[in-house]
Amino acid sequence: MPSRNDAETLRAIAGSFSLEGRVTGVEPLGDGFINDTFIITTDGPRRYILQRKNGNVFQDIPAMMDNIAAVTRHIRKKVRDPLRETLTLVPANDGGYFHRSPDGGFWTVCLFIEDTVTFDVAGTPELAFQGGAGIGRFQALLSDFTLPLSDTIKGFHDMRWRFRQWDASLRADKAGRAGGLPEEIAFIEGRRQEMLDFWKLIEDGTIPKRVAHNDTKLSNILFDRASGRALCAIDLDTVMRGTVLSDVGDAIRSYANNTAEDDPDYSRVWLRLDMYEAYMRGYLREAGGFLDEAEKRWMAFAPLYITFEQVLRFLMDHIDGDSYYKTKYPEHNLVRTRSQMALLRSMEDSYPQMQEIVAGLL
Ligand code: ATP
Ligand code: MG
Repeated sequence: MPSRNDAETLRAIAGSFSLEGRVTGVEPLGDGFINDTFIITTDGPRRYILQRKNGNVFQDIPAMMDNIAAVTRHIRKKVRDPLRETLTLVPANDGGYFHRSPDGGFWTVCLFIEDTVTFDVAGTPELAFQGGAGIGRFQALLSDFTLPLSDTIKGFHDMRWRFRQWDASLRADKAGRAGGLPEEIAFIEGRRQEMLDFWKLIEDGTIPKRVAHNDTKLSNILFDRASGRALCAIDLDTVMRGTVLSDVGDAIRSYANNTAEDDPDYSRVWLRLDMYEAYMRGYLREAGGFLDEAEKRWMAFAPLYITFEQVLRFLMDHIDGDSYYKTKYPEHNLVRTRSQMALLRSMEDSYPQMQEIVAGLL
């Protein structure tokens, strides 16, 4: 644990929030990829989650906290058990939703939701179903949300912008690698128009912008320990306006891949239709009621779009000399690229079945 997070400092930070009771402990929780997360215990009735938000990843944390406050306020008014079915932010003593430590850190607190469990990997169709239901419900609760939200991550899923970056990156060819990648570059170029055409539907409003969660992995859903049901979507740092289709696409890319996204044995990579069907069944049970015709029409395409974007980003990072994604070995980004290319090919082969599954569920 870095010294900036020593016990005394953590207690002082916890003490700068409006908690019930006196702080009795602050302990690290898990090893999240993005933020540093702790549990605060008190001699009062509740436990709390304390997070140091990642200032490298998030450029405007006050705007991000305003987004989270607005969507959780909206959900709270609509659910039976507001303290368990959405995050409850706890204000700092100055009334704001974050506290700044002397080292510049941004700290936030929310209630710890008791009697819940999380899962790291969606190994079974049953978990995929629950994951889909969790995100579908989150989106459905926000389908009548009309307040403005800040774009906390610029150009998110914007293919026009991605291709601008891509063209620049090929021109610069910083690491001198572009010449050796004819097949991969052709894979991207062969799909350029199709992907830009889809993005255009979002730009011109054919597909509506609603509230998207934007980090739909399974560990961002709390499950009720007693019933085993998806209870609450957490980790709302990336909540923004956008198409809800990108949440589905991102979830399918990870849930329904037969193997890890960087599996170097490409023969193990394929889209599991049983996982796809299960996720979509859970998702559409909750979201089927608010989706419009354009969203339904393009639902099955979303995983292809998001997987394509990931191929492009991995390949671009390889060409740029591995400056964005952490790599474990020199060709890691190229392996990721090829592995995700195999996944996209499998999705393209299965696209008619994916469309049939969606049609059958709607
Ligand atoms: P990651 O990058 O892995 O998604 P993160 O840094 O974004 O992590 P969170 O996802 O917000 O952090 O939280 C990490 C874990 O802490 C969650 O997966 C969950 O197990 C637990 N957790 C977070 N908030 C709560 C809460 N309010 N109540 C109960 N558990 C929580
Ligand atoms: Mg998380």
